[in-house]
Amino acid sequence: MDTIAILIPVFNEEKTIVELTNELEEACVLISNIHKVNFRIIFVDDGSNDKSVEKIFQLKDHPLPVQLISLSRNFGKESAISAGLEAGKDDSAILIMDADLQHPPALIQELINAYINENVDMVYAYKQSRKTEGVFSRLMSKIFYSLINTNSRFYIPKDAGDFRILSNKVVKSILNLPENERFMKGLYAWVGFKVKGVPYTPKKRAHGVSFFSIWKLLFLAIDGITSFSIAPLRMMSMFGLGIAILSTLYFLFIIFERLFLNTSIPGLASIFVLVSFFGGVQLICLGIIGEYIGKILLEAKKRPPYVIDKDVEISKGKSNS
Ligand code: UDP
Ligand code: MG
Repeated sequence: MDTIAILIPVFNEEKTIVELTNELEEACVLISNIHKVNFRIIFVDDGSNDKSVEKIFQLKDHPLPVQLISLSRNFGKESAISAGLEAGKDDSAILIMDADLQHPPALIQELINAYINENVDMVYAYKQSRKTEGVFSRLMSKIFYSLINTNSRFYIPKDAGDFRILSNKVVKSILNLPENERFMKGLYAWVGFKVKGVPYTPKKRAHGVSFFSIWKLLFLAIDGITSFSIAPLRMMSMFGLGIAILSTLYFLFIIFERLFLNTSIPGLASIFVLVSFFGGVQLICLGIIGEYIGKILLEAKKRPPYVIDKDVEISKGKSNS
C-alpha cells in the first residue's frame, strides 16, 4: 500500500506537538477509510532550544510511525523542509505542514482527495483571503508576487506556502536541484508538473509567535526574488535608459533655450536635487547588484543546506490503519 509521509518542520513548538499529533492521527484514520493509503510522520527539528525534541520522543507509542531528524542547529524552515524531503524520498508522496496548528489537519483530507481524484502531482493550499493582515503586508505581498512572476515560463501561485502534497516525482526533482539557498516556493513551481490549488483559511497560531517577523519576511522575499528572477536587474537598465533619454532631451532643450530664447541657466537648487536623487538611485542599484553577487558567493561555496545531528525512529506505529 502507498505511504504518504507527513513532513513537519519544528522550531520551538513544544506546546503544539501533542495536540498536533492527536489531530493528525484522527485525520489519518478518516482518510485511510476512504483511500487505501498509509501514513507516517517525519519531524525535522530545526535546532529547537525548548522541549520540542523531548515531546517528540514521548511519541514512542504513537499509532503512526514517527521519524525524527534533528538538525545540528537552526538552519531555517527552507533547509528543514529539504532535510525532510530527503528522508521521505522513498515514500509515494510527501505532505508538508507547519507544526503550529495553523494548517488545520482536517484540511489534509481535502488536499489528499484532490491529489488522488484529480490525478495531479502536487496540490497546494492557498490562503483564501489576506483580509486579516495589515495594508502594508498585503501591499508588500502584491509587489513580491508581481516581481517574482515576471517570467512567463513558470508561475509561483499567490498566497500558497508550504502546506502542500508532493508526489514522489516532484520530491525527487526538487532534491535534484543543486542550489543550497533553497527558496522552496520557487522550487515547487520551477519543477513544473500538474498542480492544483485548494483554498483555505489559516487558523491563528495556537501558541507562541510567528518566527517570521516583517523584516524576516522582507529578507525572505528579497532572497526569493533574487533567486528566481532577474527582473530587478532589467528594471535597473530600463530605468537607466529612460533617464539617459530624458536627460538628452533636456540637454537639447537647454541648448535651444540658450541659443534662441536667451534665458539664463536654472539655479543651483535643481542641480543639487538631481545630484542627490541620482546618488540615491545609484546606491539602490548597487545594492541590487550586491544582492545578486551575494547569491553567487553563497552558491559558490557549495556548503550543504543543513547538517543532520540525529535520525531516530521514534515509533514503529501500529500495523498501519
Ligand atoms: N520553522 C522552522 N525553522 C525556523 C522557523 C520556523 O522549522 O527557523 C517552522 C515552525 O516550527 C513551523 C513552520 O516552520 O512549523 C512555520 O513557522 P511560523 O509559524 O513561525 O511561520 P508562519 O506561520 O508565520 O509562516
Ligand atoms: Mg505559523
